Amino acid sequence: MVMTEQLLGFIGLGNMGGPMAANLSAAGNALICYDATGSAERAPNGAVHATDVAEVAQKAAIVFLCLPDGPIANTVSGELMSAPGRIVEVVVDNTTSGASEARATHEMLSEAGIAYADAPVSGGASGARAGTLAMMVAAPADLFSRLEPLLRPMAKNARHVGTEPGQGMAMKLLNNFLSGMAMAATSEAMAFGARQGLDMATIIDTVSVSSGTNTAITDKFPNRILSESFDSGFATRLMTKDLRLYVDSCKELDAPCLLSETLLDQVWGQMLAEKPASDFTEIYPFTLMRDK
Ligand code: NAD
Repeated sequence: MVMTEQLLGFIGLGNMGGPMAANLSAAGNALICYDATGSAERAPNGAVHATDVAEVAQKAAIVFLCLPDGPIANTVSGELMSAPGRIVEVVVDNTTSGASEARATHEMLSEAGIAYADAPVSGGASGARAGTLAMMVAAPADLFSRLEPLLRPMAKNARHVGTEPGQGMAMKLLNNFLSGMAMAATSEAMAFGARQGLDMATIIDTVSVSSGTNTAITDKFPNRILSESFDSGFATRLMTKDLRLYVDSCKELDAPCLLSETLLDQVWGQMLAEKPASDFTEIYPFTLMRDK
C-alpha cells in the first residue's frame, strides 16, 4: 500500500507529461496522476489514478503540471488551491505557460501559502522519453535544492535560471523563438537547395559541419523530415502559442521583435490556419507548397 503523504502529483499526461511522469516513477517515486482525457491509459504502471484535480491536491504535497497552455495551468492551479483538505504545498509548472501567466499563477498560489516554480522543458517527446530534457527552473534557491533530485530523472539538463517567477518561462520562450526560426529558415534553405538540384541528405551532412548549423539541421531534418515521419510530437498549435507569448512579452517590455513578429504572422500563424492539426516538422512540406 502506497503512503499517500509520500505521493507526488502529476497532472497532464500528454506527449511530454506522459513520459516525464514515467521517468519520475521509474526513479522510485510514488505518483498520483490525473489527465482530463483519461488518467488510467496515460499514467505510468503502478501510479495511483486520481478521479479529479482535487484528489491530487488531497494526496500530494508536490504537484507537477504539464498542460497545454498557461490559462489551463492557471485554472488547474486554482483547483488545486481550493480543493477541500488539500495538502499540496508546491506546484511545479512544466507547462510552457508564458512569463506573465506564470507570475499571475505564482501570485494566486502564494496568497494561499503554496510555493510555485516555473519549470518549462525543451527537448521534445523523444527527450522526454529519454529523460534528457532541458528544464528551465525559476524558483527561490532553497526550493530549487528541494526539487532538484526530483527533476533529474526527467531532465538531465535541469538549470536554475533565476529566482523570480516567470524567468523560467522567459528562457523557454526565447529558446522556442530560436527553434521556430531555425525550422522556418532551414525549410526555406532546403527549398532553395532543392531548386538548385542539391540532395537533402547532402545538405544536412554539409551544413551540419558548417556555420549554418542549427537543431533543424542536426535533429528535425535528418530524423523527422528526411524520413517523412513528421513525428516530433510538438504540435504546430504549440509552436504558434509559444511564439505568440514571446511576441506579446516583447511588446509588453518594449523589446525588439521584428523577426519574431514576422515569423509569427507570416509563417507559423499561417501554417496553423492551414494545417491546424499538424506536427511542427510539417513546416517543410508547407514551405514547399507555398513556394509553388
Ligand atoms: P499534449 O496536448 O500532448 O498534452 C497535454 C495533456 O494535458 C493532454 O493529455 C490533455 O488531456 C491534458 N489536459 C488538458 N487540460 C487538462 C486539464 N484541465 N486537467 C488535466 N489534464 C488536462 O501537450 P504536450 O505536447 O505534452 O505539451 C505540454 C506542454 O509542454 C505544453 O505547454 C507545450 O507547449 C510544452 N512543450 C511541448 C513539447 C513537445 O515537443 N510536445 C516540448 C517542450 C514543451
